[in-house]
Amino acid sequence: MKKPYTTANLDWSSEAPLSTRFDDIYFSTENGLAETNHVFLENNQLPERFREADSFTIAETGFGTGLNFLAAWRLFNKTAPPSARLHFVTVEKYPLTLDDLTQALALWPELNTLSDKLIAQYPSLVPGFHRLCFDNGRVTLTLMLGEAIECYRQLEANVDAWFLDGFAPAKNPDMWCPALFQQVARLSSAGSTFSTFTCAGIVKRGLRDVGFQIRKVPGFGRKREMLTGTFTDADQQTPPSLNHSGVSPTWFGLPDKHSGDKTALIIGAGVAGCSTAWSLAQRGWKVTLVDRNSAIATEGSGNRQGALYAKLPVDPIPASRFHLSGFLYSGHLLRQHLTDRSDIWSPCGLLQLAANDKELTKQHKLAESGNYPDDVVRFVGQAEASAIAGTTVNNSGLFFPAAGWVTPPRLCQWLTEHPAITVITDTKITRLEREASQWRAHTDDNQTLTADVVVVASAADSMQFEQLNHLPLQKIRGQVSLTDANINAPQLKTVLCSEGYISPAKQGAFCFGATFDLKDDATEIRESGHQHNLDKVCDMAPELGKRLSQYHTENGLQGRVGFRCASPDKLPVIGPVAVYQSFLNDYARLRHDATTVIDTQPQHYPGLFANLAHGSKGLISGPISGEIIASMLENEPLPLEKELIDKLSPARFIIKNLIRRAI
Ligand code: SAM
Repeated sequence: MKKPYTTANLDWSSEAPLSTRFDDIYFSTENGLAETNHVFLENNQLPERFREADSFTIAETGFGTGLNFLAAWRLFNKTAPPSARLHFVTVEKYPLTLDDLTQALALWPELNTLSDKLIAQYPSLVPGFHRLCFDNGRVTLTLMLGEAIECYRQLEANVDAWFLDGFAPAKNPDMWCPALFQQVARLSSAGSTFSTFTCAGIVKRGLRDVGFQIRKVPGFGRKREMLTGTFTDADQQTPPSLNHSGVSPTWFGLPDKHSGDKTALIIGAGVAGCSTAWSLAQRGWKVTLVDRNSAIATEGSGNRQGALYAKLPVDPIPASRFHLSGFLYSGHLLRQHLTDRSDIWSPCGLLQLAANDKELTKQHKLAESGNYPDDVVRFVGQAEASAIAGTTVNNSGLFFPAAGWVTPPRLCQWLTEHPAITVITDTKITRLEREASQWRAHTDDNQTLTADVVVVASAADSMQFEQLNHLPLQKIRGQVSLTDANINAPQLKTVLCSEGYISPAKQGAFCFGATFDLKDDATEIRESGHQHNLDKVCDMAPELGKRLSQYHTENGLQGRVGFRCASPDKLPVIGPVAVYQSFLNDYARLRHDATTVIDTQPQHYPGLFANLAHGSKGLISGPISGEIIASMLENEPLPLEKELIDKLSPARFIIKNLIRRAI
C-alpha cells in the first residue's frame, strides 16, 4: 500500500543513526547533545535570552530525532521564568517511525524525562501541522510534516531564533535554497538570530541576501567554523513582495498582537467557548465565561456522549485536513490531561460502517489510496468488525483505533476548572459595545461586563449581535435517544456510526442518535425521532437494535433535543470579526474581478472574535479552535496551515458573496 508520507530509512550499524536517503548523520557520533548545545543553543545566545523570556519562538529546519527540541526544552526549563512559554516550530519531510525515534532518543539518558513525554505524544504521521503541548502549556511543539518550503509558506509566526539543521548542503540542497531562506526572512524580525553547523558559501550568501548579518564562529569538535547571524531590518534586501507567504490574500490578514490587558469575556459555555477559555487561561489570561443557561454545556454540547472522530474522504481536501488535525489535537489533549478520566471519555475506537454499496466502494478506495496511516484508519471486513464491536454488525467498514466517545458536559466542566476562569451562568448578553479600548457587554438584567477581548461562542444566537448579524448561521435540530442504566443488551465495545451512531454503554446506559432536522425549532422529544434513531441502530447492529427496540416498547426511551449551529460550507467560523461595511467598501472590486489584487488591510473589530458553527463536529473542531484564537491573540505560531485558517475566517462569506455579486 502506498504511504501518505515517507518515513526515514535509518542505518543503525554504527552507534548513531544514519539516513540512508541522504547518506548523512542526524547528529555527531562524538557527542550530539554537546554539539546541539554549542551550535544551536549557545550560538543563538539562548541561555541569556531564555532568562529574559516571556514567550520565545524557535523555528527549526529538520526535526529528525527531536534532539534539538529536547535540548532547547531542557535549557528552557532550567533558565526561563516559570510563567514563560516556549514555542518550537519544526518541519520534517521524512519522519522517524516511533520505534526509530525511541531507539535514537535512548542514546540520551540525561533527556529521558523529556523524551518520554515526546514519545508518548508522537503523532500519527499524517502530512500537515501537528500541535503538541507539554508541561501544562509551557512548551508547545508545532511539528509540520511535509516539504520544508511548502510548510514554512503556510506558517504564521514571529521567530526569535532559527536552528538551520538540514543535512549537509551538498547532500540536501532543498534545505538550503533561496526560496526557503526567503521564508526564514519573512518569519523573522529585527533581532531574530540563526545558527547552523555549516559554513557553506551558498548558505552564507543566501542568508545575507535575505537580510541577515552573518558571522563565522568556531564550530563544534573537529569542525573549524560554523555560521551564526542576526536579522537586521535596515540591511534587509528582501523585496516587499517576499514578505508575504504568497498563500493568503490580503483580506484574510490577521490583526496585530493584542496589546492591552489580558482580559477576555467569552459568550457561550459550550465546547467551543470552554476550549477558548482554557487556551487563554493557560496563557495567563483572566477569563469570564458567560452563559444564558443555569449551567455550562446545556445546549448543543449537552449530550451524554458524542463520537470523537473525523469522517475522511478518499483524497484529503482542506475541510477534511482541518477535521483530521482537529481530531488529532483533541486526542492529544485528552491523552495528555485526562488519561484516567473514564467519566469524560473513552478511546474505545470507532467503526464507520458502510451504509450502502456506494459507500462500501468509497471505503475500499480510501483503504487502497494509502492516504491515511493505519493508526488513523483501516478497513475491516464484517467478521473483524463484529469482533471489534462485540456484537454482530451488518457490514464491513472503516475502523478508527484512536477514536472514541466523549461526554461533552464533563469535558467542559474540566476545561473550566482552571483557576483563571470565572463562570457566570443565568446571564444573557444582549449587546456589545466598544468604548475606550474595551468591550462593554450589556446583560438582560441591565448589568455591564467589561473586557479587552470578547469571543462570541453562542452558536446561532450570536447573530443577535449587530457586529455578527451578517454571518449566515443555521440551526439544525438533533434528537438523541437514551436508555436507563443496565439494560440487558449486547456489550458494545466500540462506537458504531453510519447514518446514525451509538456509543458503548456508559455506566450501563446507552446514548444513540441523532436526527437531523432542518428548519425545525421544536424542543419537545418526538416518538418519530426515537424510531428514527432505533432504525439506524438496527441497520448497523441488528441484535443490539432489536434489544433497544424491545426496551423502548417495555420502558420507553428518554431523549434530548439540541441545536447544532452550522455554516453554509459546513466549516466552523473561527477568527477576528470583520467590519461588514468596511469589507464591502474595501473589496468592492472583487465584484468585477475575482482575481484582482487589493492591498487594503482588512478592518476587524478590535479584540472581537467569533468561534461558531461547529455543527456536529465540536468535539474535534472545538479544542483546536481555542488554540487558534489564543495563538492569534498572543501572536504565537498558529497551530494550522494558514490556508486552513483562511477557510475558517468569519470574513469568508463576505468575500464569497462579493465574488458571486450576491451583495
Ligand atoms: N534536528 C534534528 C535532530 O535534532 O535530530 C536533525 C536533523 S537532520 C540533520 C535533517 C533532517 O531534515 C532530517 O530529518 C531530514 O529528513 C529532514 N529533511 C531533509 N530534507 C527535507 C525537506 N526537503 N523538507 C523537510 N525536511 C527535510
